[in-house]
This record gives sequence, structure tokens and C-alpha cells, in this order.
Amino acid sequence: MPELPEVERARALIEQRALGRAIVDVDDTDAYVTRPHQAGEIAAALTGRTLTSANRRGKAMWLETDDGDGPTLGLHLGMAGRIVVDDDIAGDYAPSNEVPSPRWDRFSVQFADGGHLILRDKRRLGRAILDPRIDRLGPDAADVSRDAFRERVGQGGAPLKARIMDQTVIAGVGNLLADEALWRARLSPQRPAGECSDEELDRLRVQLRAAIRSAIALGGVHTGELIGHRVRGGRCPRCGTELLRATVGGRTTYWCPREQR
Ligand SMILES: [Zn+2]
Repeated sequence: MPELPEVERARALIEQRALGRAIVDVDDTDAYVTRPHQAGEIAAALTGRTLTSANRRGKAMWLETDDGDGPTLGLHLGMAGRIVVDDDIAGDYAPSNEVPSPRWDRFSVQFADGGHLILRDKRRLGRAILDPRIDRLGPDAADVSRDAFRERVGQGGAPLKARIMDQTVIAGVGNLLADEALWRARLSPQRPAGECSDEELDRLRVQLRAAIRSAIALGGVHTGELIGHRVRGGRCPRCGTELLRATVGGRTTYWCPREQR
């Protein structure tokens, strides 16, 4: 499932390849993916415009047109979406036996030069929407400040893992990134968030940001050091202790009971 690093790679692909290209047509005929818009509504809004910026907060992505004078196109990768620009693809989140098929193209923008920007999504849970609202999201997990992190994450009785996955607290952390960051920071996912010290919260922020940078560079959250060990009987890649497995914050969670306190 795409988390912040996958969406950032998709955003960067759009920024590198799709900006400055005039839009001559839009296929928005999948009215489920473009809800609440009617088929043709996004096409009418975007045709004749030019994409001028690609932005992201957490897992939300939005593209401005005509330097902000035109409508904004929101794209969400959902559970399995990828972004395709011409022949390049981004947003892939794990090695998969399935080659993403053009049959899964749910929304596409055609440029005047003949190229395309496509939302390719087997599960059809991604979205394309005009003028998306992002004001409910917390600050982006990749650049949240130390003070904001302490204040927003370090409160309440919810387990620490649930707290950092709450998109209104900080935006962009999903299940795998949460496990990786907590393991790097040597903090238990079950710790009540409000009981963490400032020093522990600072450590978590530093390690979360390091995990995000690494995942962006290496190709996605599946490249994390812990991720390959998240299997029954898996062992901590640092100390060899068998990992615990439980449901925390509604999600399957693995952690090292020796090091993560
Ligand atoms: Zn360990």
C-alpha cells in the first residue's frame, strides 16, 4: 500500500516529466474514481490548461494548473495505485509478480505532444478529484518540526503506533513505515503516546525522517531494514530476538520485545 515515500516518488516523477505540458484531452469516464464529479467534468476543467506544480502532503498529492490560475487536480493512489508518465511508472510499493497492466488505467491526461499522465490502479481505490481538501491533514511526516511533533504526537492514551498513523496528527505514515520507524527508534508500538518523554519523541521523529529518506531513495517502504523480517517467526535484524506480532491500532504489528520499550 502506498505510503509517503511511494507518493513522493510519484510526485517527483510528475514534477520531472509532466510539468509545462499542455493538456489536450482527459479520460475521466470512470465516474467511481472521479466521484463526486460527473464524467466529462474534470475534462472540461483541465483541457487547455498546463500543469505547473506537483505538490504533496502525506499521501495526498495535488497538481496546480496555469500557475494557480486554473483548477487543481488531486490524485490519490489509494491501496495500489501507480502514476505513469509516458513510459515511466512510479508509486510501486513492493516487488510484485503482476506487471501493472494498462487495463487498470482509471484516469488519464493526454498532452499536446502525444504523451500521457495516467493513474494505473488495479484495485480501483485511487481517486482523481478537482480542488481536493487537504486542510484536515496534519503536517507532513517528512518535514514536521521538532516542536510540532512533540506537541501533536506526544499526547493521549492511544498506542504510539496508532498516534503516528493518524493522518490528522501527522500525514503520510502507514503500517510498514510505522513499524520501521518505531523499530529504528527502539520504542514499543504499544506505548501510550502521552507517556513518551520529549527525548523519546525527538528520537522517533529523527528515525521516522531517516526511514522516509531511505525509502524514497531505495524505492519504497518495502526496502526498510525491518520489513523483510515481518513474518511469523521473524527475528530482529539488530539483536536476533524473535519479533512479537500483535494487532496494534487495528493493524498487524511486529516489534522487538527486547529493544523496543
Ligand atoms: Zn532487537
